[in-house]
Amino acid sequence: RKYILVSGGVVSGIGKGVIASSTGLLLKTTGLKVTSIKIDPYMNIDAGTMSPHEHGEVYVLNDGGEVDLDLGNYERYLNVTLARDHNITTGKIYRTVIESERKGSYLGKTVQIVPHLTTAIQDWVECVAKIPVDESDEEPDVCIVELGGTVGDIESAPFIEAMRQFQFRVGHENFALIHVSLVPDMHGEQKTKPTQATVRDLRGLGLLPDLVACRLISGVPLKAETKSKISMFCHVGEGQVVGVHDVSSVYHVPLLLESQGIIQYFQKRLDLTSLHIPPALV
Ligand code: ADP
Repeated sequence: RKYILVSGGVVSGIGKGVIASSTGLLLKTTGLKVTSIKIDPYMNIDAGTMSPHEHGEVYVLNDGGEVDLDLGNYERYLNVTLARDHNITTGKIYRTVIESERKGSYLGKTVQIVPHLTTAIQDWVECVAKIPVDESDEEPDVCIVELGGTVGDIESAPFIEAMRQFQFRVGHENFALIHVSLVPDMHGEQKTKPTQATVRDLRGLGLLPDLVACRLISGVPLKAETKSKISMFCHVGEGQVVGVHDVSSVYHVPLLLESQGIIQYFQKRLDLTSLHIPPALV
């Protein structure tokens, strides 16, 4: 199974969810079965107890799970039915580990964030990624994992560490990372420093971006010179830098990404053409 992690830097709410759902949708158009997992690094077990004024609308899943609205994006973009386990929160993962500890499952060991919590996160991701989410009842080929919050937060640290370990658990050809960063526009000049800093943080934590998705909070697309600069200073090829400017509808984001070759990029990077795809769709 292939995994694509979507992380974010600089600020929260820059459109990770939309980029993650759009990537999933593009892969689905090539005939792959796509599922998704959203990680929310807060202590609440779920979003059901959180004020909509603070957190935005709660999205209710088929099994009654009360979750972040991003799960709604996934259901709509990918035409899938997700369940409460497709949303991992810090609260849920601690609860699982503490319950195991009370049952004595750790055989007298000192229970720690590394390796026990980080292993529990990886086991959860691997187990939930297998669950069929559409009417075909077949296991998905690709799982998009969106990590909420921003890289470098205390809150997301155990999840980042779990994903760092996970890339070795599943192998390089089965794990890719999209890092979404902010590119501020200052009077027409697209600034790359925040992106350089967040990619440096990410690398310091042991995760290397395969794609750097640059969010521009304006209608101006990413300029060629900005792309070259990000490629140069973030140690990625120019083909690994994609721009996502503001568009009139978030349903245009898949086309924007498609026009920048991300389907071909992932086909090559994750060897997707080796998966069984109906011949009519190849
Ligand atoms: P995150 O997952 O990083 O918190 P979301 O994907 O939920 O962010 O997006 C935050 C908000 O920005 C949403 O209201 C979404 O509709 C909007 N948005 C995201 N990407 C774009 C875009 N390219 N153009 C316009 N609005 C966008």
